[in-house]
Amino acid sequence: MSKIQTHIKEVKLFINGEYVESSSHSIFEVKNPATQEIIATAHEASYEDVDRACRAARKAFEEGPWRTMSVAERCSKIRRMAEIILERKEELARLEALDVGKPYHVALEREIPRAAENLSFFANFMEQQGGETYPMGEEFLNYTRYEPVGVAALITPWNLPFMLTTWKLGPCLAAGNTAVIKPAETTPLTVSLLGEIAKEAGIPDGVVNVIQGFGPDSAGEYMTDHPDVDLISFTGETSTGKAIMKTGANSLKRVAFELGGKAANIVFEDANLDKAIPVSIQAAFMNSGQVCLAGSRILVQRSILDEFVEKFKQAASELKVGDPQDVETKMGPVVSEEHYKKVTSYLEIAKEENATLVFGGKRPDLPDYLEEGYYLEPTIYIQENPNARICREEIFGPIVTLIPFDTEEEALEIANNTDYGLNGVVWTDNLQRAHRISHHVRAGTIWVNCWFVRDLRAPFGGFKKSGIGREGGHHSLEFFTEAKNICIALK
Ligand code: NDP
Repeated sequence: MSKIQTHIKEVKLFINGEYVESSSHSIFEVKNPATQEIIATAHEASYEDVDRACRAARKAFEEGPWRTMSVAERCSKIRRMAEIILERKEELARLEALDVGKPYHVALEREIPRAAENLSFFANFMEQQGGETYPMGEEFLNYTRYEPVGVAALITPWNLPFMLTTWKLGPCLAAGNTAVIKPAETTPLTVSLLGEIAKEAGIPDGVVNVIQGFGPDSAGEYMTDHPDVDLISFTGETSTGKAIMKTGANSLKRVAFELGGKAANIVFEDANLDKAIPVSIQAAFMNSGQVCLAGSRILVQRSILDEFVEKFKQAASELKVGDPQDVETKMGPVVSEEHYKKVTSYLEIAKEENATLVFGGKRPDLPDYLEEGYYLEPTIYIQENPNARICREEIFGPIVTLIPFDTEEEALEIANNTDYGLNGVVWTDNLQRAHRISHHVRAGTIWVNCWFVRDLRAPFGGFKKSGIGREGGHHSLEFFTEAKNICIALK
């Protein structure tokens, strides 16, 4: 039995400023992926519940005062939300670790503080924004206003539930929109608290609504079809993005999509391996590899392949896999039974495709109380064939593939040999090569000699099937605002 339990035994819906039960009385179970224990039950929003949430958000948008209050007042309330999150950070980190299976210390030190920053950053950023004026001589005054769009559906995945939801909620609220949020059904705990945190921060009822449920033919789909929803900000799988786009097309909703990834982490022979190895380990196995930005295929120049493999394998063997609540743990389980089956199916696929198993590939030895958990050792393959499925498909688990290459041209060809284009990583001491590779890898973010270093002003998003649009700084605000041009005759 896990030592930690949640105090949230029943996850309700938060609609128009209060917790309510599902009108259909439908509930589903929430499990701890480290033990399979049922830790809570959640209310599944019916169509009527989704309708109520969307109508509450619409009313709060149309009738104010959220949309019309001064930017300073609105942003101070959003900053207050950030403060409350930091005040409750231990509780939120415990819940996130329990729900997702991620190490508690990672949630506490990185994700929950980043969630607070997502809100305070956009509050501060919004206060700095203005419009433009276009001088037209003596006869006309021509200027712009950036106005909120309306009701936003914010739909998020299970890998970084609180961090990714606040990443959308920050700019959505700062720009004056109202929101209906739906977290993944596997991980509803932390996000379910966002409504009460908003209320405590003084944000009016109806501005932040949180519903729970599934995707197709459930809460997710109902939101994306609802006539009161104007825009959808979605993070999740590419195939879900396609489904949402189809449903949202009926009422021509504005969409922003952050989708899957299969980053190439390219290690050249002149790389500093003392830096490249530990960071590549993190990039491959952080959050059990369940990170859209994961460096899940490592392209290694053949001249250093043996040295890289030895050192990488050694570093992987030192990763402590265990109870997410334990401060020593570096890697927990994957999130659910369904996902465990998907991830471990790639062990068979790798075998069929003649990949060489270098490390892992089985359940780790763990204490008895974790024996039902969805654990897999950090797993490393070498695959010479860059067209193999483990080199091209998003596994989203603790499985990394090393792909040898000889020349820069070959590395680029392999790096771009995927439908995804979210990010890439380059390790080299050659400045010209770093720039050349950065220009030619078709992906939204390239990290050179580092990984996952974020500045919230910078654009974040994917090329190809990794997304539509960009989040971050003014890119987020462009999505969450309507630009209006006003032209006034002066005579
Ligand atoms: P899914 O696409 O399965 O689910 C994401 C969210 O969409 C969930 O809340 C889900 O609900 C909901 N949903 C599913 N179907 C529909 C539908 N038809 N209409 C409306 N909503 C729907 O993603 P996962 O949760 O499995 O997350 C993993 C994926 O997310 C990976 O592909 C990963 O790469 C991607 N991701 C991308 C990031 C980026 O920034 N590019 C960052 C993090 C993750 P439910 O879960 O209840 O079915």
